[in-house]
Amino acid sequence: MANEFDLIHRYFSPLAGPEGLGLEDDAACVTVEPECDLVVTKDMLVEGVHFFGNDPASSIAHKSLAANLSDLAAKGAKPNHYFLGLSLPGTIDDAWLQKFSDTLAKLQQKTGIRLAGGDTTRSLSGVVVSITAMGTVPHGKMVRRSGAQVDDLVFVTGTLGDAALGLKCLEGHIEPTDSLIERYRYPEARFALGITLAPHIHACADVSDGLLADLGHIAEASGLGADVTLADIPLSPVVRQLITQNPEYENSIYAGGDDYELVFTAAVSKRAKLEKVCADAGVPLAVVGRITENTGIRLIDQNGKLVHTERTGFQHFET
Ligand code: ADP
Ligand code: MG
Repeated sequence: MANEFDLIHRYFSPLAGPEGLGLEDDAACVTVEPECDLVVTKDMLVEGVHFFGNDPASSIAHKSLAANLSDLAAKGAKPNHYFLGLSLPGTIDDAWLQKFSDTLAKLQQKTGIRLAGGDTTRSLSGVVVSITAMGTVPHGKMVRRSGAQVDDLVFVTGTLGDAALGLKCLEGHIEPTDSLIERYRYPEARFALGITLAPHIHACADVSDGLLADLGHIAEASGLGADVTLADIPLSPVVRQLITQNPEYENSIYAGGDDYELVFTAAVSKRAKLEKVCADAGVPLAVVGRITENTGIRLIDQNGKLVHTERTGFQHFET
């Protein structure tokens, strides 16, 4: 592996935006847009916790940046720039770094986000990637978790459960299915959609820990609850078939993480507008439930019965 400065110069300087000053100064210098708020988010990915040591470098790079872009999307923010913290074991070689930086470059091109700086250290264990990303919203317009209102509809983009079942493929629990593994390794953050949805919705979060957990965050922050209809959770054909054959995996669709879709709430009167926005963007949109005055999230099956949900989402320090 190249030394630290060669490494930064060779792989990361080409990714730097103007605020990164070629990654040749002590700090970046960001010109803040007038009348805008800076929306700032950070996600840390750790080998053995968030990805496997033998996952492709392109997947590790993609997931690290996509997780941050997904948070910006949920807040209705336009992606601006990001800082890349990298901790690398000595086993990392140039081919790995090339793939890693090429993937970041691709996602930068797609989303307009630019590298502004970072830090690079040696790791005595696995790879750690920590990205801090910044975006902008018009002053006061960030979409909060806390804005849900009673009787709002609960919407979900795309399909859920694919990534969690992709992980089950990689763990050897189910037969490998390319589309599921792809969703786990290369989640598509709804970065462009988040900006167009923002003016029409009350509250939003990205689905990174599972639908019930992330909707639970919205409900709790809003001091409210939600009813979710199990049959309305949007599924890809592959996932639908898999859980028909293996009902024990059904909880992947409401408690599985890593989908990076958006869950949001909006007034019933906004439904047609939101459906049009999503149709124009080519993104499926589903209504999965309603915000209630009673706190807590209730999952309801096709017979109107409450589904007992033991585990509602991923948590790091579960006992
Ligand atoms: P310092 O010693 O002041 O922390 P460094 O030598 O670590 O500075 O970094 C020099 C420059 O390279 C800085 O502009 C920093 O932001 C950038 N940089 C270091 N590591 C990375 C990285 N992994 N990605 C992007 N920029 C980086
Ligand atoms: Mg440094």
